[in-house]
Amino acid sequence: MGKNAETEVNSAVDVNSAKEVESDTFKCPGCGNFLKYDPDSGKMKCDYCGCERDVPAPKPPMELYYTSLSEQGYSGWGEVKCIQCPVCGAKTLLEKYQTVTVCPFCGAPNLVESDEVPGLKPNAVLPFLIGEPKAHESLKKWMGKKFLAPSNLKKLAKTSKMRGIYIPSWTFDSNVYATYDARLGKTYTVTVGTGKNRRTETRVRWYNVSGSINSYFDDVLVGASDRLQQKQLTKMGGFDTKNSIQFEEEYLSGYSAERYSKGLDDSWDVAKNLMIDNVKSQIRNRYPDADRVDYINVRPVFSETKYKYVLAPVWASSYRYKGKDYGFVVNGRNGRTVGKAPLSPIKTFFFALFCAGVGALLIWMIYMLFFA
Ligand SMILES: [Zn+2]
Ligand SMILES: [Zn+2]
Repeated sequence: MGKNAETEVNSAVDVNSAKEVESDTFKCPGCGNFLKYDPDSGKMKCDYCGCERDVPAPKPPMELYYTSLSEQGYSGWGEVKCIQCPVCGAKTLLEKYQTVTVCPFCGAPNLVESDEVPGLKPNAVLPFLIGEPKAHESLKKWMGKKFLAPSNLKKLAKTSKMRGIYIPSWTFDSNVYATYDARLGKTYTVTVGTGKNRRTETRVRWYNVSGSINSYFDDVLVGASDRLQQKQLTKMGGFDTKNSIQFEEEYLSGYSAERYSKGLDDSWDVAKNLMIDNVKSQIRNRYPDADRVDYINVRPVFSETKYKYVLAPVWASSYRYKGKDYGFVVNGRNGRTVGKAPLSPIKTFFFALFCAGVGALLIWMIYMLFFA
């Protein structure tokens, strides 16, 4: 029975099913297959004949001025299409000539081409620094530490391939000038009453302040992915967006990109709130004497607001175990792995038995030492 429980693990993923279709842009001059971006050499490389070609020289990304009309002005991608997963809902962008038969996030088949336009074209990218073999190595190491995970899952993690995906995020720069008024307080104690009723009471002396503040924000990051939660992003060490370079379609060749689920305007709202919170704490710090805050009202004016749409790289794999899907993601820049491994029932059972045994032994030893 124990064996059966573990043989249910199967790979939901077949990476080799990604087919290559004609494209003149990235066609291998040697054999006619298509060139992919290779993180190890930093070049476009053909998997079949080993032919290499340079990528365009990296340029610093252009930061574009943000207006409420930026998003409507969709600067189209051109040769990119949007496909949607019927199971997890992920919207994936692919070069027109590329096809995938499984969802890069959950491994589900039957992907449908979505009517959704690809949206704004990214203007920055963090290229993959870590190739598939190295990502695989970190997943294996990570899995090795999960000693209660099913053995078959570990075996599978060793053999199956991972899929390279770019995760969308926005960064905003802005100069914030704000006038403010606030009601702050300082606590003090008084002694009241007489005789038996004599006691100290804490009171607050409230006062009003007002002024103005100027603050410049650089690269405030707002995640736009639906698939990767903020918690996971933090756990994998985030991304060094400061090192991003200008986007070129070469970097997408051989990979897919998640379409942003949080648009530019919504993300700017998030960034504004992050900036306002920061401004409020700066105002708070101007009055070190105050130990109470009733309110801080700020009236911010944002100027010189610029944005970048950055693609950040991850390697993903997913496995089905006892009818549930488990996903693992490796940061394509630093190799850190996040995910949740299922527990093997048989291993967990014996581990619990072992713990109970050790506990019983300890109790017996304590009894023998002190009471016998
Ligand atoms: Zn070739
Ligand atoms: Zn999916």
